[in-house]
Amino acid sequence: MKISEIYKNNKRSLSFEIFPPKKDTELASIDETLKVLCELNPDFISVTFGAGGSANSNRTIEIAKNIKHNYGIEPVVHLTSLHYDKSEIDEFATAMKEAGIENILALRGDRSPNAPEKDVFPHASDLIEYLKSKYDFCVLGACYPECHPESSDRVNDLKGLKTKVDSGAEVLVSQLFFENRIFYDFRERCRIAGIDVPVIPGIMPVINANQIKRMISLCNASFPERFCRIIRRYENNSEALFDAGMTYALTQIIDLIADGIQGIHLYTMNNPKVAKRICDGIRNIV
Ligand code: FAD
Repeated sequence: MKISEIYKNNKRSLSFEIFPPKKDTELASIDETLKVLCELNPDFISVTFGAGGSANSNRTIEIAKNIKHNYGIEPVVHLTSLHYDKSEIDEFATAMKEAGIENILALRGDRSPNAPEKDVFPHASDLIEYLKSKYDFCVLGACYPECHPESSDRVNDLKGLKTKVDSGAEVLVSQLFFENRIFYDFRERCRIAGIDVPVIPGIMPVINANQIKRMISLCNASFPERFCRIIRRYENNSEALFDAGMTYALTQIIDLIADGIQGIHLYTMNNPKVAKRICDGIRNIV
Protein backbone atom coordinates (compact mmCIF):
# COMPACT_ATOMS: atom_id res chain seq x y z
CA MET A 1 0.00 0.00 0.00
CA LYS A 2 1.18 3.49 -0.77
CA ILE A 3 1.56 5.59 2.38
CA SER A 4 -0.11 8.63 0.75
CA GLU A 5 -3.41 6.65 0.67
CA ILE A 6 -3.64 6.77 4.50
CA TYR A 7 -4.18 10.53 4.56
CA LYS A 8 -6.82 10.56 1.82
CA ASN A 9 -9.31 9.09 4.33
CA ASN A 10 -8.43 11.66 7.00
CA LYS A 11 -6.84 8.91 9.06
CA ARG A 12 -4.06 9.79 11.49
CA SER A 13 -0.94 7.69 10.96
CA LEU A 14 1.31 6.21 13.60
CA SER A 15 4.73 5.18 12.36
CA PHE A 16 8.04 4.01 13.78
CA GLU A 17 11.58 4.56 12.56
CA ILE A 18 14.30 1.97 13.03
CA PHE A 19 17.88 1.57 11.84
CA PRO A 20 19.64 -1.62 10.64
CA PRO A 21 22.09 -3.26 13.04
CA LYS A 22 25.78 -2.43 12.43
CA LYS A 23 27.40 -4.62 9.78
CA ASP A 24 29.46 -6.61 12.32
CA THR A 25 26.24 -7.52 14.17
CA GLU A 26 23.92 -10.28 12.95
CA LEU A 27 20.91 -9.06 10.99
CA ALA A 28 18.72 -11.33 13.13
CA SER A 29 19.62 -9.24 16.19
CA ILE A 30 16.80 -6.90 15.21
CA ASP A 31 14.13 -9.64 15.03
CA GLU A 32 12.87 -9.28 18.61
CA THR A 33 12.57 -5.50 18.17
CA LEU A 34 10.65 -5.97 14.92
CA LYS A 35 8.30 -8.46 16.53
CA VAL A 36 7.30 -6.07 19.33
CA LEU A 37 7.06 -3.05 17.02
CA CYS A 38 4.89 -4.91 14.50
CA GLU A 39 2.58 -6.21 17.25
CA LEU A 40 1.81 -2.56 18.01
CA ASN A 41 0.33 -2.43 14.51
CA PRO A 42 1.75 0.88 13.21
CA ASP A 43 0.66 2.19 9.81
CA PHE A 44 4.24 1.95 8.61
CA ILE A 45 7.79 1.37 9.78
CA SER A 46 10.59 3.29 8.11
CA VAL A 47 14.10 1.85 7.92
CA THR A 48 17.07 4.19 7.71
CA PHE A 49 19.77 3.96 5.08
CA GLY A 50 23.49 3.89 5.93
CA ALA A 51 25.04 7.34 5.72
CA GLY A 52 27.74 7.97 3.11
CA GLY A 53 27.01 4.92 1.01
CA SER A 54 28.01 2.51 3.78
CA ALA A 55 28.11 -1.21 3.14
CA ASN A 56 25.18 -1.49 5.54
CA SER A 57 22.76 -0.13 2.94
CA ASN A 58 21.52 -3.45 1.57
CA ARG A 59 20.38 -4.40 5.06
CA THR A 60 17.78 -1.64 4.84
CA ILE A 61 16.00 -3.47 2.03
CA GLU A 62 16.34 -6.86 3.74
CA ILE A 63 14.72 -5.52 6.92
CA ALA A 64 11.96 -3.76 4.98
CA LYS A 65 11.22 -6.99 3.14
CA ASN A 66 10.99 -8.84 6.44
CA ILE A 67 8.59 -6.20 7.87
CA LYS A 68 6.34 -6.45 4.82
CA HIS A 69 6.28 -10.17 4.15
CA ASN A 70 6.65 -11.69 7.63
CA TYR A 71 4.72 -9.16 9.70
CA GLY A 72 2.28 -7.62 7.20
CA ILE A 73 3.27 -4.04 8.08
CA GLU A 74 4.01 -1.50 5.35
CA PRO A 75 7.69 -0.52 5.22
CA VAL A 76 9.20 2.75 4.03
CA VAL A 77 12.79 2.48 2.81
CA HIS A 78 15.07 5.50 3.28
CA LEU A 79 17.33 6.14 0.30
CA THR A 80 20.06 8.79 0.10
CA SER A 81 21.35 10.37 -3.12
CA LEU A 82 24.58 12.28 -2.55
CA HIS A 83 26.98 9.38 -2.99
CA TYR A 84 25.27 7.55 -5.87
CA ASP A 85 24.90 7.87 -9.62
CA LYS A 86 21.85 6.92 -11.69
CA SER A 87 22.85 3.28 -12.23
CA GLU A 88 23.37 2.76 -8.48
CA ILE A 89 20.00 4.35 -7.68
CA ASP A 90 18.44 2.12 -10.35
CA GLU A 91 19.98 -0.91 -8.65
CA PHE A 92 18.43 0.04 -5.30
CA ALA A 93 15.08 0.87 -6.89
CA THR A 94 14.99 -2.43 -8.76
CA ALA A 95 15.84 -4.39 -5.62
CA MET A 96 13.02 -2.55 -3.82
CA LYS A 97 10.53 -3.26 -6.59
CA GLU A 98 11.49 -6.93 -6.54
CA ALA A 99 11.02 -6.95 -2.75
CA GLY A 100 7.49 -5.53 -3.17
CA ILE A 101 8.39 -2.21 -1.53
CA GLU A 102 6.15 0.68 -2.53
CA ASN A 103 7.37 3.60 -0.42
CA ILE A 104 10.68 5.48 -0.36
CA LEU A 105 11.78 8.30 1.93
CA ALA A 106 14.13 10.07 -0.50
CA LEU A 107 16.97 12.01 1.10
CA ARG A 108 20.11 13.79 0.11
CA GLY A 109 22.10 12.28 2.98
CA ASP A 110 24.73 13.94 5.14
CA ARG A 111 28.11 15.00 3.85
CA SER A 112 31.06 12.99 5.07
CA PRO A 113 34.79 13.57 4.44
CA ASN A 114 35.18 9.79 3.94
CA ALA A 115 32.51 9.44 1.26
CA PRO A 116 33.05 11.03 -2.17
CA GLU A 117 30.01 12.81 -3.56
CA LYS A 118 28.90 11.98 -7.09
CA ASP A 119 27.13 15.29 -7.80
CA VAL A 120 24.40 13.56 -9.84
CA PHE A 121 21.65 14.18 -7.27
CA PRO A 122 22.90 17.18 -5.23
CA HIS A 123 19.50 17.66 -3.55
CA ALA A 124 16.81 15.27 -2.39
CA SER A 125 14.49 16.96 -4.91
CA ASP A 126 16.75 15.69 -7.75
CA LEU A 127 16.41 12.12 -6.49
CA ILE A 128 12.66 12.53 -6.05
CA GLU A 129 12.23 13.85 -9.59
CA TYR A 130 14.26 10.94 -10.95
CA LEU A 131 12.35 8.30 -8.98
CA LYS A 132 8.99 9.77 -9.94
CA SER A 133 9.93 9.94 -13.62
CA LYS A 134 11.00 6.30 -13.79
CA TYR A 135 9.20 4.32 -11.11
CA ASP A 136 5.86 4.01 -9.40
CA PHE A 137 6.90 4.49 -5.76
CA CYS A 138 5.13 6.72 -3.27
CA VAL A 139 7.94 9.13 -2.34
CA LEU A 140 8.26 10.87 0.99
CA GLY A 141 10.71 13.65 1.90
CA ALA A 142 12.31 15.10 5.02
CA CYS A 143 11.63 18.54 6.47
CA TYR A 144 13.15 20.65 9.24
CA PRO A 145 10.92 22.73 11.55
CA GLU A 146 14.02 24.56 12.82
CA CYS A 147 15.66 24.85 9.38
CA HIS A 148 18.19 22.47 7.86
CA PRO A 149 21.62 23.29 9.35
CA GLU A 150 23.05 24.16 5.90
CA SER A 151 20.28 26.60 5.00
CA SER A 152 21.16 30.29 5.14
CA ASP A 153 17.68 31.16 6.43
CA ARG A 154 14.11 29.92 6.75
CA VAL A 155 12.98 31.44 3.44
CA ASN A 156 15.63 29.54 1.46
CA ASP A 157 14.93 26.38 3.43
CA LEU A 158 11.26 26.65 2.56
CA LYS A 159 12.03 27.30 -1.12
CA GLY A 160 14.05 24.04 -1.16
CA LEU A 161 11.15 22.25 0.50
CA LYS A 162 8.66 23.60 -2.02
CA THR A 163 10.91 22.32 -4.84
CA LYS A 164 10.95 18.94 -3.10
CA VAL A 165 7.15 18.78 -3.05
CA ASP A 166 6.87 20.09 -6.62
CA SER A 167 9.29 17.32 -7.65
CA GLY A 168 6.88 14.71 -6.33
CA ALA A 169 7.22 14.29 -2.53
CA GLU A 170 3.76 13.23 -1.37
CA VAL A 171 4.33 13.23 2.41
CA LEU A 172 6.91 15.08 4.55
CA VAL A 173 8.38 13.67 7.76
CA SER A 174 9.98 16.13 10.13
CA GLN A 175 13.23 16.27 12.01
CA LEU A 176 12.78 15.91 15.78
CA PHE A 177 11.84 18.95 17.89
CA PHE A 178 11.08 19.49 21.57
CA GLU A 179 8.72 22.46 21.40
CA ASN A 180 5.42 21.99 19.60
CA ARG A 181 5.02 25.72 18.92
CA ILE A 182 8.05 25.47 16.61
CA PHE A 183 6.32 22.73 14.60
CA TYR A 184 2.98 24.56 14.43
CA ASP A 185 4.69 27.74 13.14
CA PHE A 186 6.64 25.71 10.59
CA ARG A 187 3.50 23.96 9.37
CA GLU A 188 1.80 27.32 8.96
CA ARG A 189 4.77 28.64 6.92
CA CYS A 190 4.52 25.51 4.74
CA ARG A 191 0.85 26.18 4.03
CA ILE A 192 1.56 29.83 3.21
CA ALA A 193 4.29 28.66 0.80
CA GLY A 194 1.77 26.39 -0.94
CA ILE A 195 3.12 23.14 0.53
CA ASP A 196 -0.09 21.23 1.02
CA VAL A 197 1.04 17.61 1.50
CA PRO A 198 0.78 15.96 4.96
CA VAL A 199 3.59 17.18 7.26
CA ILE A 200 4.17 14.47 9.86
CA PRO A 201 6.01 15.45 13.07
CA GLY A 202 8.95 13.31 14.13
CA ILE A 203 9.17 12.76 17.89
CA MET A 204 12.18 11.36 19.68
CA PRO A 205 11.72 10.46 23.34
CA VAL A 206 14.95 11.27 25.14
CA ILE A 207 15.93 8.34 27.32
CA ASN A 208 19.64 8.65 27.92
CA ALA A 209 22.26 11.37 28.31
CA ASN A 210 24.57 10.18 25.47
CA GLN A 211 21.69 10.42 23.06
CA ILE A 212 21.25 14.10 23.98
CA LYS A 213 24.92 14.87 23.30
CA ARG A 214 24.62 13.16 19.88
CA MET A 215 21.50 15.13 19.08
CA ILE A 216 23.14 18.43 19.90
CA SER A 217 25.97 17.68 17.47
CA LEU A 218 23.74 16.29 14.68
CA CYS A 219 20.65 18.44 14.43
CA ASN A 220 19.47 21.97 14.86
CA ALA A 221 16.87 21.24 17.55
CA SER A 222 16.55 23.78 20.32
CA PHE A 223 16.03 22.64 23.88
CA PRO A 224 13.36 24.44 25.95
CA GLU A 225 14.27 25.32 29.54
CA ARG A 226 11.73 22.88 31.01
CA PHE A 227 13.35 20.10 28.98
CA CYS A 228 16.89 21.10 30.07
CA ARG A 229 15.76 21.13 33.73
CA ILE A 230 14.66 17.50 33.41
CA ILE A 231 17.94 16.49 31.79
CA ARG A 232 20.06 18.31 34.39
CA ARG A 233 18.19 16.67 37.24
CA TYR A 234 18.03 13.09 35.93
CA GLU A 235 21.00 12.64 33.56
CA ASN A 236 22.72 10.32 36.06
CA ASN A 237 19.61 8.36 37.00
CA SER A 238 18.74 6.19 34.01
CA GLU A 239 15.36 4.98 35.26
CA ALA A 240 14.19 8.45 36.19
CA LEU A 241 15.45 9.86 32.87
CA PHE A 242 13.57 7.14 30.97
CA ASP A 243 10.32 7.95 32.79
CA ALA A 244 10.78 11.70 32.44
CA GLY A 245 11.80 11.46 28.75
CA MET A 246 8.81 9.28 27.91
CA THR A 247 6.39 11.56 29.76
CA TYR A 248 7.83 14.61 27.99
CA ALA A 249 7.40 12.92 24.58
CA LEU A 250 3.87 11.77 25.46
CA THR A 251 2.89 15.30 26.46
CA GLN A 252 4.18 16.55 23.08
CA ILE A 253 2.30 13.80 21.22
CA ILE A 254 -1.01 14.31 23.03
CA ASP A 255 -0.85 18.04 22.32
CA LEU A 256 -0.16 17.31 18.61
CA ILE A 257 -3.06 14.87 18.43
CA ALA A 258 -5.39 17.35 20.17
CA ASP A 259 -4.34 19.86 17.50
CA GLY A 260 -5.59 17.46 14.81
CA ILE A 261 -2.20 16.39 13.47
CA GLN A 262 -2.16 14.00 10.46
CA GLY A 263 0.31 11.55 11.98
CA ILE A 264 3.02 10.84 14.52
CA HIS A 265 6.40 9.46 13.45
CA LEU A 266 8.30 8.00 16.38
CA TYR A 267 12.07 7.73 16.37
CA THR A 268 12.22 4.46 18.33
CA MET A 269 16.03 4.10 18.43
CA ASN A 270 15.33 0.37 18.00
CA ASN A 271 14.05 0.30 21.57
CA PRO A 272 10.70 -1.53 21.62
CA LYS A 273 10.02 -0.31 25.19
CA VAL A 274 9.89 3.24 23.85
CA ALA A 275 7.27 2.41 21.24
CA LYS A 276 5.26 0.27 23.67
CA ARG A 277 5.15 2.98 26.30
CA ILE A 278 4.04 5.62 23.79
CA CYS A 279 1.33 3.34 22.38
CA ASP A 280 0.08 2.53 25.89
CA GLY A 281 -0.01 6.25 26.68
CA ILE A 282 -2.19 7.18 23.69
CA ARG A 283 -4.38 4.07 23.49
CA ASN A 284 -7.55 6.03 24.29
CA ILE A 285 -6.47 9.34 22.79
CA VAL A 286 -8.51 10.02 19.65
P1 FAD B 1 17.77 18.31 0.91
O1 FAD B 1 16.29 18.37 0.82
O2 FAD B 1 18.52 18.20 -0.37
O3 FAD B 1 18.23 19.63 1.69
C1 FAD B 1 19.60 19.85 2.01
C2 FAD B 1 19.89 21.36 1.95
O4 FAD B 1 19.75 21.83 0.60
C3 FAD B 1 18.94 22.20 2.77
O5 FAD B 1 19.66 23.27 3.30
C4 FAD B 1 17.89 22.66 1.78
O6 FAD B 1 17.25 23.87 2.16
C5 FAD B 1 18.70 22.83 0.50
N1 FAD B 1 17.93 22.48 -0.71
C6 FAD B 1 17.05 21.46 -0.85
N2 FAD B 1 16.58 21.40 -2.10
C7 FAD B 1 17.20 22.42 -2.78
C8 FAD B 1 17.16 22.88 -4.13
N3 FAD B 1 16.38 22.25 -5.05
N4 FAD B 1 17.92 23.93 -4.48
C9 FAD B 1 18.72 24.55 -3.57
N5 FAD B 1 18.80 24.17 -2.27
C10 FAD B 1 18.06 23.12 -1.88
N6 FAD B 1 20.33 10.52 6.59
C11 FAD B 1 20.84 9.33 6.19
O7 FAD B 1 22.02 9.27 5.80
N7 FAD B 1 20.09 8.18 6.23
C12 FAD B 1 18.78 8.18 6.62
O8 FAD B 1 18.14 7.13 6.64
C13 FAD B 1 18.20 9.43 7.05
N8 FAD B 1 16.90 9.49 7.44
C14 FAD B 1 16.35 10.70 7.77
C15 FAD B 1 14.97 10.77 8.10
C16 FAD B 1 14.38 11.98 8.45
C17 FAD B 1 12.90 12.04 8.79
C18 FAD B 1 15.17 13.18 8.46
C19 FAD B 1 14.55 14.50 8.85
C20 FAD B 1 16.53 13.13 8.12
C21 FAD B 1 17.13 11.91 7.77
N9 FAD B 1 18.48 11.80 7.39
C22 FAD B 1 19.02 10.61 7.01
C23 FAD B 1 19.35 12.99 7.45
C24 FAD B 1 19.41 13.74 6.09
O9 FAD B 1 20.07 12.93 5.14
C25 FAD B 1 20.20 15.04 6.33
O10 FAD B 1 19.48 15.90 7.16
C26 FAD B 1 20.73 15.74 5.09
O11 FAD B 1 21.69 16.71 5.51
C27 FAD B 1 19.67 16.47 4.29
O12 FAD B 1 18.85 15.60 3.64
P2 FAD B 1 17.54 16.15 2.87
O13 FAD B 1 16.97 15.03 2.14
O14 FAD B 1 16.66 16.91 3.77
O15 FAD B 1 18.28 17.17 1.85
